Amino acid sequence: MNDTAIFAPLLIKIKIRYMNLHEYQGKEILASYGVTVQRGIVASTPDEAVAAAKKLSEETGTGWWVLKAQIHAGGRGKGGGVKLAKSLDDVKNIASDIIGMQLVTPQTSAEGKKVHQVLVAEDVYYPGDSETSEIYMSVLLNRNTGRNMIMYSTEGGMDIEEVADKTPHLIFTEEIDPKVGLQGFQARKIAFNLGLSGKAFKEMTKFVMSLYKAYDGIDASLFEINPVLKTSDDKILAVDAKVTLDDNGLFRHKDYAEMRDKREEDPIDVEAGEAGLNFVNLDGNVGCMVNGAGLAMATMDIIKMAGGNPANFLDVGGTADAARVEKAFRIILQDEKVEAILVNIFGGIVRCDRVAQGVIDAYQNIGDINVPIIVRLQGTNAEEAKKMIDESGLEVHSAIVLKEAADKVKELIG
Ligand code: GDP
Ligand code: MN
Repeated sequence: MNDTAIFAPLLIKIKIRYMNLHEYQGKEILASYGVTVQRGIVASTPDEAVAAAKKLSEETGTGWWVLKAQIHAGGRGKGGGVKLAKSLDDVKNIASDIIGMQLVTPQTSAEGKKVHQVLVAEDVYYPGDSETSEIYMSVLLNRNTGRNMIMYSTEGGMDIEEVADKTPHLIFTEEIDPKVGLQGFQARKIAFNLGLSGKAFKEMTKFVMSLYKAYDGIDASLFEINPVLKTSDDKILAVDAKVTLDDNGLFRHKDYAEMRDKREEDPIDVEAGEAGLNFVNLDGNVGCMVNGAGLAMATMDIIKMAGGNPANFLDVGGTADAARVEKAFRIILQDEKVEAILVNIFGGIVRCDRVAQGVIDAYQNIGDINVPIIVRLQGTNAEEAKKMIDESGLEVHSAIVLKEAADKVKELIG
């Protein structure tokens, strides 16, 4: 049996809960920490884009603008989601093209992502200027050492994966000691390794210090700034910003929670999250509803052993009351691959008879459940619970021992 095939992606999804931000939101946060960024204003309509462009010109004197599709995926430039506008007419036309488009990039699925907003930014590139250079910089956790690190390269703007692959010696890392934080000498080393001198060197040192302060301050789990631009007049600017927040730190940043753009997330994940259910969609045919992550893992194993394949991981948590059970059923039933549902609840604090009632109520409320449900309840009042299910007259099968439940699943799905 190949455990890692199910559990590796699962563990990653469960343990590392994160929230992605749009580029414009990331840049706003960076700027609030003193990181120098390419200035921009987000717009939802072509008229708003034109107004944004005018406002930017007043503030920065720019006469050209770059319009950037706001989706939670990179590689937008390659997919036609980043365009230069040289007049207000251009701004309007490009904004009309980009807003509402289905943008396909190397980082999206084949159908792409719908663009709802465009960032109108000042053009910060001076054409034909050889003094301008694109740098790559990211901040992330090195899971091997348990320390944050800054990863950087002179080869920014393009595919960093390709750089890592073909010229790995051009990628540098700098690890940060959590006891003392990022030190000035480290920031200077980074600026030096990037080949900078004079004003650009100083600017880069400040940039790196503020960037790390921001990363630490907002409990981020990833910053990827590609490119960081060095202009010919030696300014250092974040031209792009991929910012990922750690969900586990969100309670400390209530104001960032409203930056969540649910349109960018899988609707089923949003629904499960709002219901407080720990849910991960998988490829199999047996839906699982379990309390506790460990029991959920064991249940998935037993399904595999019985010859089935788990369709999901779902931990209903400690309070498996009727409303949550019903919500969980509704989420599992959205998956058309599901041929049977195995409910495996250990009644420690929660009483099994209550869960049984929850299952019966949910079954009746939902109405059109056309897959068999196998319920294994163990713990407090398990016998009563089994009796309730057996006498319900519904297509709900009871089991006391897990093996019995798994065998029933196998029998029912054939
Ligand atoms: P990504 O493709 O999703 O990573 O989006 P980026 O924000 O990194 O933009 C893609 C590319 O657009 C950058 O690598 C730049 O080459 C280009 N770009 C971004 N901002 C400007 C700008 O102000 N002027 C010009 N001329 N090009 C820009
Ligand atoms: Mn980029």
